[in-house]
Amino acid sequence: SDHQLEYPSCPEDMDWSKLYPAFKDEHTGEMTKEVTIADIGCGFGGLMIDLSPAFPEQLILGMEIRVQVTNYVEDRIIALRSNHAKEQTYQNINVLRGNAMKFLPNFFHKAQLSKMFFCFPDPHFKQRKHKARIVTNTLLSEYAYVLKEGGIIYTITDVEDLHNWMVKHLDEHPLFERLSKEWEENDKCVNIMTNATEEGKKVARKQGDKFVACFKRLPNPEII
Ligand code: SAM
Repeated sequence: SDHQLEYPSCPEDMDWSKLYPAFKDEHTGEMTKEVTIADIGCGFGGLMIDLSPAFPEQLILGMEIRVQVTNYVEDRIIALRSNHAKEQTYQNINVLRGNAMKFLPNFFHKAQLSKMFFCFPDPHFKQRKHKARIVTNTLLSEYAYVLKEGGIIYTITDVEDLHNWMVKHLDEHPLFERLSKEWEENDKCVNIMTNATEEGKKVARKQGDKFVACFKRLPNPEII
């Protein structure tokens, strides 16, 4: 549970160079980039692995609550980096064990992120478990805090009820606006997230439906 997890008290307290050593400036010791893309509940890491070459100049972080799964993704990335040592690829992805529902502002400062992915989140089918869902009003305000203006929330699920739930909450939130089907069709990330994750592949094998919804972070309203 959470009490075994360690969190930085603020984003500046994190040593990001441990996760992305290739992006540490040798002379200053400072990071040359910060994380801009987050995969929330990344599972086995398939999304990050496909996003990595598509966004070589962006740092991508997966957050995962299960220890074994996080360890697996860590090993997977170590292997990828060593197999591609010559090309120096896969340096821009890594994973952190953590509860994304509780501590996001400890890892990201305001307006840091340009994209957040919620791929096949746990559905929590029962009514009394709905509050455990990863998209709720309170959490959306936290996601809006770490996302920059114009940043995107990507959601995909095979559970129609969960899709409707996420759309309803995002639609009702004043800081998010749904993007059109046409936008989705032209966005390379929608295509990647539909096909890259382990859960998405499982759904495809079972010929299940996949429901996509993407939302743009709106500017904060002016306070008069
Ligand atoms: N996104 C991956 C995919 O599409 O293959 C994994 C989907 S899996 C159904 C949901 C994942 O979210 C699980 O690996 C679970 O451990 C993780 N998870 C659930 N709640 C979480 C939380 N609060 N913070 C971080 N990860 C969480």
